[in-house]
Amino acid sequence: MADKTFESESRKLLGRLRDTMAEEAAGQARLDRITHLTADSIGTEVCSIYLFRDAETLELCATEGLNPASVHKTRMKLGEGLVGKVARRGRVINTADAPKEPGFRYMPETGEEIYSSFLGVPIQRLGEKLGVLVVQSREAREYTSDEIYALEVVAMVLAEMAELGAFVGEGAALTARHTQAVMIRGLTAQEGTAEGNVWLHEPRVVVTNPVADDPHSELVRLRAGVETLRVGVDEMLASAMTQDTEQLEVLEAYRMFANSKGWKRRMEEDISRGLSAEAAVEKEQSAARARISQVTDPYLRERLSDLDDLSNRLLRILTGQGQETGAEMPPAPILVARNIGPGELLEYGRRLRGIVLEEGSVGSHAAIVARALAIPLVVQAGNISTEALNGDHVMVDGDQGIVHLRPDDTVVSAFRDKMAMKAEAQERYASIRDKPAITQCGTQVHLHMNAGLMADLPSLHESGAEGVGLFRTELQFLTRNKMPRRSELVDIYTRVIDASHGKRVVFRTLDIGSDKVLPYMKAVSEPNPALGWRAIRVGLDKPGVMRMQLQALLRAANGRPLTVMFPFVAQFEEYRAAKAEMDKALARESKLGHTLPASLEIGAMLETPSLAFAPPKFFDEVEFLSIGGNDLKQFFFAADRENELVRRRYDTLNVSFLTFLEGIVDRCRASNTRLSFCGEDAGRPIEALCLAAIGLHSLSMRPASIGPVKHLLMRHDLTEVKKVIHEARDNGNQSVRPAVMEYLRGRT
Ligand code: PEP
Ligand code: MG
Repeated sequence: MADKTFESESRKLLGRLRDTMAEEAAGQARLDRITHLTADSIGTEVCSIYLFRDAETLELCATEGLNPASVHKTRMKLGEGLVGKVARRGRVINTADAPKEPGFRYMPETGEEIYSSFLGVPIQRLGEKLGVLVVQSREAREYTSDEIYALEVVAMVLAEMAELGAFVGEGAALTARHTQAVMIRGLTAQEGTAEGNVWLHEPRVVVTNPVADDPHSELVRLRAGVETLRVGVDEMLASAMTQDTEQLEVLEAYRMFANSKGWKRRMEEDISRGLSAEAAVEKEQSAARARISQVTDPYLRERLSDLDDLSNRLLRILTGQGQETGAEMPPAPILVARNIGPGELLEYGRRLRGIVLEEGSVGSHAAIVARALAIPLVVQAGNISTEALNGDHVMVDGDQGIVHLRPDDTVVSAFRDKMAMKAEAQERYASIRDKPAITQCGTQVHLHMNAGLMADLPSLHESGAEGVGLFRTELQFLTRNKMPRRSELVDIYTRVIDASHGKRVVFRTLDIGSDKVLPYMKAVSEPNPALGWRAIRVGLDKPGVMRMQLQALLRAANGRPLTVMFPFVAQFEEYRAAKAEMDKALARESKLGHTLPASLEIGAMLETPSLAFAPPKFFDEVEFLSIGGNDLKQFFFAADRENELVRRRYDTLNVSFLTFLEGIVDRCRASNTRLSFCGEDAGRPIEALCLAAIGLHSLSMRPASIGPVKHLLMRHDLTEVKKVIHEARDNGNQSVRPAVMEYLRGRT
């Protein structure tokens, strides 16, 4: 427990700091006063504040005791000298004999040679490095834990003051943060470019009162806040209703933290030394974040992020700042968040121009939704959620995975040029929208679009697609928190068929498992989910949901044509079993007196190499096949489509893969089976041209790709492209891409 006299001394210091904050004074005067007060309170000869001038350089910004002429002149790199070391490691250095300390570097202009002891603490806010606070004295002594603590509290208040812009206007190092241009490199999850203004999904909680007068009332507030938090976490646990032991363990660990005595005790101690309840929470949160960046053990990292999350909740409870801040969404909003769920993203819908996530992954559900909404999305975007403020100007380059926050004029004009070029291309595509994609050799290639949400359907008209070649029904299931009822499905499918105005829509039955896990279904732990219990395998083993879905589709068709395909069929028998389910559903509907579809086409997705070698009878029986190139390619090359290390390793235009696809084309031609291709590659113009050249004359892609693909197809002769492909193969090339590119260059 902290010493009582020390507590009151530390409260006195904080009280004075608060007065300093309240005074009308320039930033420099404030900093000077803080160093004076701190040196006085701790009883040291020197107190100095070093702040970051840029990401790599610290600058002495104020001092009591060192040579005043060195202020704003003395600088060091991150990691350089003891100050640089404190900043780099985010940890305290406390030494009685500074010159003997490894890494010590003497700065002659400061006159510090006469001081033996050194105590440096990092100034950081929520894991973000802002600077270093140092005290030094002649006497060779180590500082006590109370003194270290006092200095940490001052550092924390300094960080809060910096956040509030208390030091603005005093030299480069003191310019307000959140005003500088920042470029953040992330990963592309949905292509496209957007310019707009930041809209924070969860605005930062701003602590305006880091220092408090009355520790007792702060303690009461903290305890009440913790209690509200605890009850909330218990309720969350009760409603999770999961049987999965792993998931339960995680939730229990979360609850344990909410009840952690150590956490509460540390916050109570912070309060007894003069911090407000919210500042105490934030101090512990900062400490947890600093540790997160240092630990490598994934389990420990998870626990620390639990603590981070709990601190956020507690801060919202204490400050009353939640999502409802009263702020208005800016025009052209670009959503910025640490992460977001698919349901929340759908609520924003098409209002958003772009999305930037600090976490997230290319294959996440949020990414699926963003793709369906055709909103540019960058994931793994550094520390964007702490860097950005609501309303900041931002440019999202979804093609390169780059985000320009508060860009300067040169970036703005280069970016706008790029957008203008894209817009020009879009105009070109609009002019051919209603024309069929007929190549120079007279072959018509049928272009369809992929969809999965109601929000996609307006694109059917806008893109000029001939129909929906793949309707991913699982999106309706993934974006809810409970299983949809049959009547809801009937309603959705009816609206989809209505909106298609007679164009063909290929409904794919539920494709869950692998990376698409329904939050309300019992999770199964699988060593390799992509090769696991997914899609039609789940549908056949637990037919309840599939039956409900088939029934809903038949009812939605209500006398109109219906097309259904089963995903991930690996062998003939699976197709037969699924088809038998459809026959049963038809019989049931007929018995109940419902109107049956005018026509019914049943097909399968070819996503595993095994199906390409199914018996001829399969090709005779199945009415159509659609190649799911995303999955097929990952199994053909044994390269996980979600794994950044390997997913781009093998080219779709690899000779082996194209030869394999040609084999499928031949088999379908022989049995007169309708064939299409609906993986992502169908939407890439060069790939689409090659697929068409080897005989795939029906392609389904993202709506935005139809224009560029059609534009290229119309300008080329497929027989010539086919010749180029075969020549490259005969020459022993690994991929036909270089040869095709060379050919295209020669023709423009
Ligand atoms: C595919 O695998 O190519 C496909 C279209 O299905 P999904 O991407 O939904 O797995
Ligand atoms: Mg697939």
